[in-house]
Amino acid sequence: MQSRKGGGFSFVMRYIYGPVSSRRLGVSLGISLTPHKTCPFDCVYCQLGATTDKTLERSAYVPSADIIAEVRAWLDANPGRIKGLSYITLSGAGEPTLHTEISALISGIKKMSSVPVAVITNSCLMVDAQVRKELLQADLIVPSLDAASDEVFARIDRPLPGTRVEEIIEGLVGLRKEYHGKIWLEIMLVKGYNDDIRHIRKLKEAVERINPDQVHLNSPVRSTAEKNIGPVDEAKLKQIAEMLGDKAQII
Ligand code: SF4
Repeated sequence: MQSRKGGGFSFVMRYIYGPVSSRRLGVSLGISLTPHKTCPFDCVYCQLGATTDKTLERSAYVPSADIIAEVRAWLDANPGRIKGLSYITLSGAGEPTLHTEISALISGIKKMSSVPVAVITNSCLMVDAQVRKELLQADLIVPSLDAASDEVFARIDRPLPGTRVEEIIEGLVGLRKEYHGKIWLEIMLVKGYNDDIRHIRKLKEAVERINPDQVHLNSPVRSTAEKNIGPVDEAKLKQIAEMLGDKAQII
């Protein structure tokens, strides 16, 4: 999609957003691979509202050729901004690993620029060896893990029935063995949901098994669609970071 503006061309982007700045990823150009809130989870802290298409079904949700064309257009239109990008990030308003052509998208983007490609995932599909294989060319994977027991998992991430967090943890252990890029595990800590110290001990065991390069602890500070969702206080966050060891940092 293209429109003339001020004598030059400006592109109306459908899949690309940003660049956005974050402490976690620096300056990142985002790409959304699914329609809004197409996700196997419905996390209580989600800033995008309630999940409208709760699914584990993989599909070419948006045309890969159109995504590649948009990235090409953005790179051509912004040569001076490319150097400032830390990552081109597959993420967006749903779960990117639901897209069946994610592997071709990662390699297609990497052919167009030297900017590292990151994938942000809720980890649900890491149980599938085929999906893990499709991510191998990414430079960075940022998987989430909010729970280490099915009870906490059901309360905080509200997955599709039958999803077992132990299987997801095993999938992440598999990812670590198969993937040679960086893994930054993200844990969203929500007051009263997953911050109980006994649960943190279980999470610590899971983190040690997964062995990511870094562990990022986050807590919801912006407003969420769900009521009564609050951040864990600073002192407790520090205590949890200490419990989780040297790789853990509060983001
Ligand atoms: S996994 Fe991400 S997009 Fe899906 S509900 Fe949770 S926070 Fe929202």
